[in-house]
This record gives sequence, structure tokens and C-alpha cells, in this order.
Amino acid sequence: MLKVQVPPRFTKERLYVLDYLINDVFGIHYDVVINEQIDKYMFSYNDDLFLVIEDHFFGKFSLEKPYHSIDNLPNPIHYMNVEFSESESFVSLYHPEGCSKIFETFSTYYLCKSDIIASIFFMLTRWEDHINTNRDIHGRVSASNCIAYKFNFLHRPIVNEYIEFLWNIIESKNFKIYRKSFNFNFVPTHDVDYVAQYYFLSFKSLAYQLIGDLIKRKSFSVFFERIKSFAFSKLFGIKKDPFFTFQNIIKLSNKYGVKSYFNFFGGISNVKYDCNYSLSNLHIKNLLKTISAEGHMIGLHPSYESIRNSDLIKSEKDNLFKVCKELNINQLSWGGRQHYLKWDISETSRIWENIGLNFDSSLGYYDGPGFRCGICYSFPIFDFEKKRKLNLVEMPLIIMECSYFDYLNLSFQEAKNRSTELLNKTKKYNGSFVVLWHNDRFVDLNSDVYKLYLYLISNI
Ligand SMILES: [Zn+2]
Repeated sequence: MLKVQVPPRFTKERLYVLDYLINDVFGIHYDVVINEQIDKYMFSYNDDLFLVIEDHFFGKFSLEKPYHSIDNLPNPIHYMNVEFSESESFVSLYHPEGCSKIFETFSTYYLCKSDIIASIFFMLTRWEDHINTNRDIHGRVSASNCIAYKFNFLHRPIVNEYIEFLWNIIESKNFKIYRKSFNFNFVPTHDVDYVAQYYFLSFKSLAYQLIGDLIKRKSFSVFFERIKSFAFSKLFGIKKDPFFTFQNIIKLSNKYGVKSYFNFFGGISNVKYDCNYSLSNLHIKNLLKTISAEGHMIGLHPSYESIRNSDLIKSEKDNLFKVCKELNINQLSWGGRQHYLKWDISETSRIWENIGLNFDSSLGYYDGPGFRCGICYSFPIFDFEKKRKLNLVEMPLIIMECSYFDYLNLSFQEAKNRSTELLNKTKKYNGSFVVLWHNDRFVDLNSDVYKLYLYLISNI
């Protein structure tokens, strides 16, 4: 039997990580003992000690002192070649001062001086983002402000690297224990900000847009193209509207055997940033029915101001659930993503859990594709303020299309290279490659953004 002895204090935090690693990821039954006498994590099998991991984080604090502060961010960070690590250079976040060697082999056990338990906790809980007061106009943290970006490992799922490191150590001992296996999964998600570009548009709104084409954009071609598309959409129905690209998205997902996740607004709270469509509209009800009948998922896209507003998210969720119930749409689990990726790691998580949603996929940086949580697996969210594992799963977002083309202004080739690297890393660990491609980005089949999607889905 695998047994882990754990130092005292901060046991909720320590056990959250150990339970995720050993139970959820490896699928192994294990014993855990809180030992008041020790200051390190001690791993044994049938009572033979085989691994000691030093504690260089939680042991430093008294229970009264919250640890989430700038002073406790990883510093310095070391890159080292370490036995049992498969990656080119092991990223050590927490270790002893002035440490030059973080792994040692003794006759019967190994000693790891890098506190990978605290490092995993740091990456998964995102307490780093919570304490960051540097926000954009939407209240979001930029990738450029995070440790993973600053120290050049946002493109590496370092939690997966720690998981394999730990498993390689266990495996080297030839114990008769076996781990659970994961399958690579391409997860296309589509936040439905706009169902249609023109179908629901009034003549008055069209007139404003046309004036903008002539005065602001100074483009006759856009002006005439807009009139044509508007007329086409109004005359021939919503299916001819440029943004109504759902049939193509579903066709592609069906062709490659993947499940798409479509997240819908259940209401609006900010006329400037939210998009106005009603779930009670017959066309939208038909769309929901088609998505479900084709075997894809429907989720919630809570509105712009909802981030810390429990009543608002609940009413939007109730609205979506009411319509789905009326349409006989049943799903085993319900999730979604906050509009603009506006997620408060403490408050929004609690609200989503409270109202019974099962999973979220908001945790990716708006301006930095990569592994914001350091992992390409789903994991339970931990409320570090209330010291509690939530009944809510995070399915971390790896790529949002507008990060490349709107925020970072990358060329197609640069976006393709970076995506390929992220895709290959996710495949290596049999993880979930979660991407966000809005339905209004499937309009121009010659655009870079569409071509990148086609490239990704055809290379899975
Ligand atoms: Zn949105």
C-alpha cells in the first residue's frame, strides 16, 4: 500500500494536491497520515520509505497568516537537469535558498528538494492571479504579468511534467502498482456572443453601421457588402446570415469525431459588451435542439457584469435551463465559460458551484495561449480563501483564437507554430486540448483564423 506522511498545518491544501495527484490522476488507493513530528512529505510503499519531498512553502507560515501575497510568489526560479524528469529542464518554483542540486539519491530513497506539492498548488489554484492588482479595462489579468510568462514556461504544462516525474520515481521501484490512463481529447468550444450578424438587426442599427463604413472606415466595398449581407439575411432567413455558421462547425466536429461545446447567454447585463439575443426566439430554440440532437454540448455564457453577482448568474442559468428543459435537452453535466473570460478565482468559482454548474473553462489568459494552470487535464477547483475543494471542475482553456489575431497580432505562421507546440505537448500527456473559436470566426473560409482551426482539427 502506498502511504504518504504529511507535515502538520495547511493539511487541506496539502491533501488537495496529493489527492489530485494520487487519486484523481494515478487512480491509486493510498493512505495518508498527518505526522506532527515531520517537516517533509514522506512517501513509502509497504512501509519502506522511497521518496522524501521537502516542504519549502506551507511549513514557513503559521495558520494565522495567509500565504497568498506577493512576498510568497516563487523567487528565484531554477531550471535544472533532474533525474526522472522527462522535460528538457525541470522548473523548480520552491526550494531551499542557494540550492544548486534539487534531487539526490540515497541507498534506499530519493530526496527531492524542490517542493513540487506547493508548486502544483500554486499553478492549479491560481492564487497568483487573485493577488494581482494589475488589470485591464475588463478587470482581467494579462499573461504578461504572470510568473509562467515572465519565466518562459507558459507553453509548458509543468504540472503534467511534475506528475510524470513523480510517476517515473514510483515506477523505478518496481512496485506492483498501476496508474490510470488518459486519452488525448480535442475540445472545441464556441462562445456564442452573436447568433447572427444581421438577422435580428433593425434598420436603424444598420444605418449606424453604414454611416460608420463611410465615415470611420471610409470603405465603399464594406458599405455595399453590408447592405448585401443584410438583405440576404432578412430575405432568405437566419441560415443565410454570415454569423450563423453552426452547421459548418457541427459538420467539422462530426467529421473529426469530436464534441463541440456551445456556450449561450442566458441574459445580458451590459449593453456595450453583451450581445442581445433571446433564448425564447424560435430560431435559437431550433439551434439548441440541433446542437443537442447532433450530440454536442450546450453551456452557459454568463454576461459581462455577472462575475461576482450570484443572482445574475443564477437567473441566466435558470433561463437557459428552463428553455433546455422545455426542449427536452438533457445533459449529464453542465458547464460553460464567463464572457470575456472574466473569472474571479474565488467568488465566481463559489457562485458556479453554488448554483450547481459542474465545470468551467474560463481559465486561459486572454492575451497568452498556453497552460495558465500548468496542466492539460481537468481538475477540481480549490477555494484557497475558505480552504475547501469545490464540487466544480476546471477544464483549462489553452487557446482562444483572438489571443493570436487580435491581442498579439501574430501572423498565421507564428500562430500555427505556437499552436503546434501546445498541441504536441497536450498530446504527449494525453490531455485535453481545449480551444475557443467563436462562431463569428467561421465566416471567411480564407481567413487565417479559420485556416488555423482547420489545421488544428485535422491534426488531432
Ligand atoms: Zn463571450
